[in-house]
Amino acid sequence: MPEELRKCPLCGSEKHTLFDKRTFKGHQVVNRLCTSCGLVFQSPRMTAEEAEVFYAAEYRRLYQGTDQPVIKDLLVQRARAQALTAFLQAHVPAIGRFLDIGASAGELLLYVRKEFGAEVVGVEPGEAYRRHAAQHNLTLYPDLDALAQAEHAPFDVVSMSHVVEHLPDPVRYLSRLRKTALASDGWLLVEVPNLYGHQSFEVAHNFSFTPHTLRQTLYAAGYRVEVMEAHGRPRSDLIPLYITALARPDARYAQKNIQGERNVALKRRLAMLRRKVLLRYLSQQAWKEI
Ligand SMILES: [Zn+2]
Repeated sequence: MPEELRKCPLCGSEKHTLFDKRTFKGHQVVNRLCTSCGLVFQSPRMTAEEAEVFYAAEYRRLYQGTDQPVIKDLLVQRARAQALTAFLQAHVPAIGRFLDIGASAGELLLYVRKEFGAEVVGVEPGEAYRRHAAQHNLTLYPDLDALAQAEHAPFDVVSMSHVVEHLPDPVRYLSRLRKTALASDGWLLVEVPNLYGHQSFEVAHNFSFTPHTLRQTLYAAGYRVEVMEAHGRPRSDLIPLYITALARPDARYAQKNIQGERNVALKRRLAMLRRKVLLRYLSQQAWKEI
């Protein structure tokens, strides 16, 4: 049975209203808006046990028809890995050790190894993807516990590309990363779909972040945000489909009060209207085939 969230997972408020209700690939998906902090979160949602079964058996098949890596997905991942590597090159001077959580087939690991000469390690729950990555001489662990057992030195950069929105409790997970895997002077790289550009309401997305709520989430987990950008790379030159952030450990922020965001529903409506117009009249730049 799916679980109903009584409290907002970011600020703890019990005041939330219905934000969106739809069917996604046969699953009923209901998202709620916290009227205190503006976070949009799925509720009811899969329990931890249901999610474990879902990611082991159904996720890849539901999204791409098979649990094996497929060419179309690999090409998208390669294009995204290239864009993220360029983003890192613009902001991070050097990387000695790099960890990618949700490493998938290892495309980002390959780019960062090549461009920065870094020692690279990944975490990826999908077994077929780990096998694929192993062909490129990459080390991937199934989860954080297996990574911890391997006793790697702290990482200079930990990346989570299209992962945080899937987690049941992002603040807790990101805090754990900060304390156990990331160097105290390291960088966290996060990319998520943007509520103000991406459709986002998928069964696997527990959260639909805005730049504001992503920033508050990073603060709550004890990070200082250094760079944040809404953009469409590699998919669109015009629609801000994604939010990419670089943040650094700073436990002082963990004490900060959550700052609320106003008019989330209105901003979403305007963003989706703009998206529709761009897709219709400037389709070449608005949606690039990869
Ligand atoms: Zn809230």
